Amino acid sequence: MADLSGETAAAAAHSRALQRVRVLLPLPLPDALDYRIPGGEPPPPGSFVRVPLAGRNLVGVVWERSAAGDDRTELAADRLKPIGETLPLPPLDAALRRFIDRVAAYTMASPGAVLRMAMSVPEALQPPRPRRLCAISAAGLAALAERAPATPLSATRRRVLETLRDHPPMPFAETARLAKCGAGVIRDVVACGLAEERIVPTEPAVPPIPDWRVSGVQLSADQAAAARRLVACVDSGGFRVALLDGVTGSGKTETYFAAVAAALAAGRQVLVLLPEIALGAQWLQRFRNRFGVLPAQWHSEISRSERRDTWRAVAAGRVRVVVGARSALFLPFPELGLIVADEEHDPSYKQEDGVCYQARDMAVLRASLAGFPVVLVSATPSLETVVNVSRGRYQRVSLPRRHAEAALPAIRLIDMRRERLETGRFLSPPLVAAIAGAFAAGEQALLFLNRRGYAPLTLCRACGHRFQCPNCSAWLVEHRFTRRLLCHHCGHAEAVPALCPECMTAGVLVPCGPGVERLLDEVSAHFPSARAAVMVSDTLSGPQAAAELTQAMTEQRIDVLIGTQIVAKGHHFPMLTLVGVVDADLGLVGGDLRAAERTYQLLHQVGGRAGRAERKGQVLIQTFMPEQPVMQALAAGERERFLEAEAAARRGAGLPPFGRLAALILSAIDAQAADFAAQAIARAAPQWPGVIVLGPAPAPLAILRGRHRRRFLVKADRQVNLQAVLRDWLSRVRLAGSARLQIDIDPYSFL
Ligand code: ADP
Ligand code: ZN
Repeated sequence: MADLSGETAAAAAHSRALQRVRVLLPLPLPDALDYRIPGGEPPPPGSFVRVPLAGRNLVGVVWERSAAGDDRTELAADRLKPIGETLPLPPLDAALRRFIDRVAAYTMASPGAVLRMAMSVPEALQPPRPRRLCAISAAGLAALAERAPATPLSATRRRVLETLRDHPPMPFAETARLAKCGAGVIRDVVACGLAEERIVPTEPAVPPIPDWRVSGVQLSADQAAAARRLVACVDSGGFRVALLDGVTGSGKTETYFAAVAAALAAGRQVLVLLPEIALGAQWLQRFRNRFGVLPAQWHSEISRSERRDTWRAVAAGRVRVVVGARSALFLPFPELGLIVADEEHDPSYKQEDGVCYQARDMAVLRASLAGFPVVLVSATPSLETVVNVSRGRYQRVSLPRRHAEAALPAIRLIDMRRERLETGRFLSPPLVAAIAGAFAAGEQALLFLNRRGYAPLTLCRACGHRFQCPNCSAWLVEHRFTRRLLCHHCGHAEAVPALCPECMTAGVLVPCGPGVERLLDEVSAHFPSARAAVMVSDTLSGPQAAAELTQAMTEQRIDVLIGTQIVAKGHHFPMLTLVGVVDADLGLVGGDLRAAERTYQLLHQVGGRAGRAERKGQVLIQTFMPEQPVMQALAAGERERFLEAEAAARRGAGLPPFGRLAALILSAIDAQAADFAAQAIARAAPQWPGVIVLGPAPAPLAILRGRHRRRFLVKADRQVNLQAVLRDWLSRVRLAGSARLQIDIDPYSFL
């Protein structure tokens, strides 16, 4: 009896398992949902299926049963909703499904929110709309051939049939155009059977495959040795991380192209992550020079239809190389065999809204789950990566010299405490003299200031009124080119008024401090005949404008380029010999734990634009804090010493990568609700060994887009499972009303 009931139970469990399937939907739900299989075989994991949910018909992905899911009290299969059709798409592969689960667990986002990043193009899930073509029918051919037909063809119809006879099947509109008639005639000809409609499925044309067999530039001995090591990583066919660490201008791109070629030769797909697409034009050109075709691109600027085609082509394995911004990491590559993260230290790899993730770190995770190598590339690697090298987890591949013996630029600090400048002027006499020197030698200069607009603050000379954003605790920034006051946090814009809105006096508004547009005035005052241009990453101008400026600079149609951090990246201008950093201290203010590191990287990077060809470059750095370790390290070119000092400071404070950090950002539409919710969270805070909770405190940006913000910072020892602690803590808190909580593991921004 006992045996029999055991058997019955097992059979029942078996049939239950057979009849139900878990489906993960691209929605912020806590888990996948159970559905019933109405009959037949269940679709394999990874299949895209249609399912009903709350009266809607959605597409989700068949997911594995999680360990926790098995203990749930299950709804009887007959009470579950049935799944619908399986879409004709390649299933998401197991490694990508595990990656999605792991990213969700790490970032504490819901798996569905992460899945949504992997299926970010809903229209790509539908098969492309079939094309309707027109072809001549047997009756049509006969009618053309007939000598004395019972019903003679009209001249127009004859023309249509002759056109169709002489061409392969073509769209109706095309037929009408060639036969010089209206579309109605074509429809009539089809209706009376002289021609026929043919429905053909269409996939967009197969994108050209990058050719890895053609060899690239002749590599130097250093480069060839580095390339061999990267290729060996690819050929070993397992997970590894290599840091390609080379000074600016050492040829890192040409070197990692060798690894890209090796992965292609092994039949694998390749993803190259680039932080900012401004770097696009020159990079794409070099890719084409090396591989004969352009790679597929993935970033916010590509069109919807391109996005759709690329997603499908990646999923089908028809695209072999994608170059993209961080979101490309979630594309459904079935045969991914290499990820390169160029400028791996770049802070824009960190996504700060929605699912907060670090794309460089998640690239390493994806590679480790799928078992292939990652190449991280930088002239100023992040402290996290350097520490991973010293712990033996990542291997370092170095390129110590600039290509073609170009010398590294000389770096000099200008102590701004000693310089006398008129009010409203920001370029010191030594910097102005150096610009004059560069012009005299027929060379170019670049001025770097990480501040968009004309002036960061506008105030009224008569009453002291300052222009503030109505939605954020931030000053409005004057933009002279567009004559507007802009909030750089929420995008609020207003016209620059003629009168002070407070005291109604005219002509009393004064700009305070410099922005790149204001430097343009100052340069023009000093050098009226110089051709100067401003380059910013404004959405107003866009990457196209940036590409045009890059071109103009390369062709020396510009003498001096004034720009924000967009100019720091990747560009190579042979005649650029002088880089002036207008305010090197800007990045050091604010309580950001990576402030010093970021300043070092940015200034080093921008300095690296100088003297990249035969002519030697110089970098002048204006600072009020010349004794700061960052400035000293920059001037002495002592990267290792700087990194050691940074590492020691962070180790002492238990900060990443020596400890764990998470930010909780609570927001609500009024201050009271924000405080109330913050107190509720604070009361539930864990008493856990090795965990320190700081806060709640008003965020530095206390109001953002009309929401009041409070922050907690959670610090933990490296051994602590921070996510588990947070999960336990937050499970004991219920947020009411408008309050929202955002969790940011490894925060980069502290605003
Ligand atoms: P990095 O990325 O290290 O700053 P790049 O890859 O941009 O350096 O190379 C700097 C410049 O030198 C580029 O214009 C590149 O085309 C050129 N270059 C690098 N290596 C070679 C080589 N072996 N032969 C010819 N040109 C090279
Ligand atoms: Zn604002």
